[in-house]
Amino acid sequence: MSKQQFQTEVSQLLQLIVHSLYSHPEIFLRELISNSSDALDKLRHLTLTDDKLKSLVGNGIDAPRIDLTLDEENKTLTISDTGIGMNEEDLVAHLGTIARSGTKNFLAQLSGDAKKDSNLIGQFGVGFYSVFMVSDKVEVLSRKAGEDKTFKWTSDGKTGFELEEATGDDARPTAGTTVLIHLNEEGAQYASGYRLQEIVKKYSNHIAFPIFLTYEKS
Ligand code: ADP
Ligand code: MG
Repeated sequence: MSKQQFQTEVSQLLQLIVHSLYSHPEIFLRELISNSSDALDKLRHLTLTDDKLKSLVGNGIDAPRIDLTLDEENKTLTISDTGIGMNEEDLVAHLGTIARSGTKNFLAQLSGDAKKDSNLIGQFGVGFYSVFMVSDKVEVLSRKAGEDKTFKWTSDGKTGFELEEATGDDARPTAGTTVLIHLNEEGAQYASGYRLQEIVKKYSNHIAFPIFLTYEKS
């Protein structure tokens, strides 16, 4: 297992998200669903253009879908997709650094004024890290299309992340990404099937892939 620090800008962004977006924590779900949708789009494009990936459809690459699974008792929420996935390098590059030039510009414009900054965040979209508004422990299990190994990225959203190869039950049988969220006190309100259904409806009208919500009614 390797332990790595976040790039300085990531830590900066994380702090900012937690402080200026606390009044709208539900946007984490919009961000994660949009990432899954992007990943499914990318893979769909590749399976049309790349012969090797085309041949893996039905055998390593599943039909496109997004699954949300709530475990009310354990207060965990899982968002899983059958998209392009990430390998070890991708996880470090995409979830450990800020590769997006838009985010760099965004950080450069920050004023330190919570109100102004939260408006800016609204314009730029905060992405994956918004999940740390509702969680202090997030696990990402991902297997890149065309590759065999699953990698597990774990973080508390504070200083850094751990990365290791996933084995046993954690290994994905097919390509895609699973984000396992251990809901914290702030996130506990989302451990409700009814609430989730409401938010998913609100934010995913434009999503072109089927979204399945599974929860046990209590
Ligand atoms: P953005 O979506 O604007 O690029 P995010 O912070 O939401 O920024 O995500 C950062 C990057 O992490 C994405 O660009 C993508 O490369 C990667 N990523 C996040 N979620 C997934 C996913 N479910 N499947 C594949 N890659 C993902
Ligand atoms: Mg995103």
